[in-house]
Amino acid sequence: MRRFLLCSLTGLLCMAAQAQLITGVTILDGSGGPARVGSVRILDGKISETGALQPKAGEIIMEGGGLVLAPGFIDAHSHHWGYLREHPEGLPVVSQGITTIVVGQDGFSDQVDSLETWFQQQPVAVNVATFTGHSSLREEAMGATDVFRTATASELEAMKELLRDDLNKGSLGLSTGLEYEEAFYSSREEVVSLAQVAADAGGRYISHIRSEDITLEDAVEEIIRIGDLTRMPVQLTHIKIGMASKWGEAGQILERLDSARTRGIDITADIYPYDFWNSTLRVLFPKRDYDNLESAEFAVRETFNPGESYLVAFAPVTHYKGMTIEAISQERGETAAETLLALIRLAAEFQEAHPNFEGSVEAIAAKGMSEADIATFMAWEHTGICSDGNAGGHPRGYGAFPRVLARYVRDSHLLSLEEAVHKMTGLTAVNLGIAQKGFIKPGYDADLVLFDPETVQDRASIENPHALANGIKMVWVAGKLVYADQKALDARPGTLIKRTPQQNAH
Ligand SMILES: [Zn+2]
Repeated sequence: MRRFLLCSLTGLLCMAAQAQLITGVTILDGSGGPARVGSVRILDGKISETGALQPKAGEIIMEGGGLVLAPGFIDAHSHHWGYLREHPEGLPVVSQGITTIVVGQDGFSDQVDSLETWFQQQPVAVNVATFTGHSSLREEAMGATDVFRTATASELEAMKELLRDDLNKGSLGLSTGLEYEEAFYSSREEVVSLAQVAADAGGRYISHIRSEDITLEDAVEEIIRIGDLTRMPVQLTHIKIGMASKWGEAGQILERLDSARTRGIDITADIYPYDFWNSTLRVLFPKRDYDNLESAEFAVRETFNPGESYLVAFAPVTHYKGMTIEAISQERGETAAETLLALIRLAAEFQEAHPNFEGSVEAIAAKGMSEADIATFMAWEHTGICSDGNAGGHPRGYGAFPRVLARYVRDSHLLSLEEAVHKMTGLTAVNLGIAQKGFIKPGYDADLVLFDPETVQDRASIENPHALANGIKMVWVAGKLVYADQKALDARPGTLIKRTPQQNAH
């Protein structure tokens, strides 16, 4: 007698079995093509068939209730790894429907070797891929406190060797965070030489570019040039215009990227769906003159709004955490610019007095972008979605992907649901060279998310940054359920994704 085990949406029984059929779902396959109603069969962690499928004997059946089934989301720029190491169930990640995070961003990475060791010691719920960070290479080759200059020839050779080794072990390519002090003083030629090593190994380049404000145009030119010289795919990560007098110029930036593409340069972008960023107070000083009142006044005028920008960490004066810069300046009886200088000074003094302090001494969630630019960048056909999040103070760490589905698909209709899913899955897999993921296709990994497009909603905010999104119903990694009923489950099927030469055949 044929017997089917029936799983409800809450059924945890489904976890144990190998052959599963998810029926009655609207399939968005990650390609951007139209939705189809049907079923998806999972066998041995892979998608084996899709379409109008009949149940087979012994198969576990999951009734999808007409909800959307999509490839698990791929976070093109994530800082969740530190959290994941401590909390392998990865709630901030899986609760967004994310099944793969791409780490090693902004120039900072752990070596593939150490990631591998951690994976062996402590399996995690989701997949992880990494880039090799330029700043980490610099710290290794030049010394952690001696990076505020361009590298010497022999240091550059040492960095190349380290990079080559990490690429051979599976890193996706080179990442840079050229706006940060650890890399800001590197010459363009240093970056190009390292990028060439990544290109020679069949890798890629992803960059937090050298400026997102006063010299944004030069910084865009720098990444285009790297793509041109090395001929490898390059991605401008968390694309933004962080300077008020340049707001509205997103179209002009995209024209330059499109014109580069016309010249055969494979340049793409990713974006997170918020008009405020999260970083250090020091990045508000493009000229790195942290005691210059004029520069502080420029920052207040151009790069962030003190009334809508909050300290999300501040170790020297703990009650400043959660306050706006404006509120702090009122408490101190200063202008916002004076307060900005004071905060940086206090942080520096604290750092000096507590050199071994663990955690962030200071961090700001700063309102500094225009909604119109975000929409223009997000709608570009070559832009994928990222969170740039961790489990900290910016709500993007828990809300980015559901927010795109709620705010930019259902509420504003900036994107169709098909487009948005494509930007969260297949597009990012192709742009970053991640094979066997990002599409619902036979032979692909059974990383999947079931969600309700009518109710999906991010709930994380500055006040409550860890609130879980609604509407993400179930999440599978390699066919194992990792999230259901707003809870992370016990399965740890995540793998460390390694670039193979074939993966660059896209
Ligand atoms: Zn960044």
